[in-house]
Amino acid sequence: MILVYVDHDRGTLDEPSLQALTFARGLDAEVHALAIGDAASGLAGTLGEHGVSVLHVATHAAFDDYVPQAAGRALAQLAQMTSPKAVLTTSGMRGNEVLAHAAAILDEPFAAECVEITLGSPAEVTRSRWGGNMLEVARVHRNNVLLASIPPFTVAAEPSPVACSVQTFTPELAAADTAVRVVDRVAGQAHGVSLAEAKVIVSGGRGVGAPELWGPLEDLAGLLGAALGCSRVVTSNGWRPHSEQVGQTGTKVAPDLYIAAGISGATQHIAGCKKSKTILAINIDPEAPIMTHADYAIVGDLHEVLPAIAAAIRSR
Ligand SMILES: Cc1cc2nc3c(=O)[nH]c(=O)nc-3n(C[C@H](O)[C@H](O)[C@H](O)COP(=O)(O)OP(=O)(O)OC[C@H]3O[C@@H](n4cnc5c(N)ncnc54)[C@H](O)[C@@H]3O)c2cc1C
Repeated sequence: MILVYVDHDRGTLDEPSLQALTFARGLDAEVHALAIGDAASGLAGTLGEHGVSVLHVATHAAFDDYVPQAAGRALAQLAQMTSPKAVLTTSGMRGNEVLAHAAAILDEPFAAECVEITLGSPAEVTRSRWGGNMLEVARVHRNNVLLASIPPFTVAAEPSPVACSVQTFTPELAAADTAVRVVDRVAGQAHGVSLAEAKVIVSGGRGVGAPELWGPLEDLAGLLGAALGCSRVVTSNGWRPHSEQVGQTGTKVAPDLYIAAGISGATQHIAGCKKSKTILAINIDPEAPIMTHADYAIVGDLHEVLPAIAAAIRSR
């Protein structure tokens, strides 16, 4: 059996968790899932559609929102109770954090960013390193269970319906397990479209020039029902929130269309957007590295090009 830690935001599953379930089925026909908090009980239908025969729901007064170490504790205790061949999750910031805690508690190694896994003694994993620019083959010498995370979009989420039963349990938590927890939430995306799941992304870089010059990007994103993205320079400058950053240290995305305006195309940025089906680059520099990754390119000032695209869409 493979145990998958599925992340959800107050009852809403993320797409990469479903991808991790598909990946897990490639290792073993029996897949269980762990989801944290009472809000997870409603996930059984979707998880059953994706091959989960048992959904373990960890309930505790502390689980009213994301509590990483407590979630890691619950995962470690469930792994000890159910003895899976492997514990997997999707390698977002939260999945990696929870599995790192679980690995420390279990005193097992944790292999992050695995695009291939062969279970054996030792297990062999292929890991995506340096923002996806290098593949590393490694052997993992674990004591009992392999803990590994899978990068988003390594596989597509494929349904495989089975009957899913729900089993609840209450983990034993130490006081320190809840020291780090969500205490407040601030509204994020202006357009209400999740960056990780958006079909279209309008992304801006240093070339936009200033935080108050984001209007043409917001206008086009609104017309296309797109999410807004940006480069790290933009978040480092405080022009846009970190939640919009695309790249190695931001969100990894795979939209149908990624519009990169005023972004040079550094490897750390490309690491986050290279799985896009189509990349449109808008840049004044025809030699910018982004041009070698783009399917379409417009050499020009984004402050002229973006309004022109928006006007063309409106005229139709
Ligand atoms: C460990 C590490 C992790 C990192 N992680 C990330 C990450 O996750 N995401 C990320 O993005 N970066 C990341 N970076 C930073 C990365 O190396 C680059 O510095 C960054 O991506 C550059 O951002 P940029 O393209 O916006 O800026 P620049 O490189 O300065 O490029 C600006 C571009 O805008 C163009 N331009 C200027 N004016 C206009 C205009 N009016 N119209 C059209 N084009 C114009 C320019 O020709 C240029 O190509 C990381 C770096 C390190 C070391």
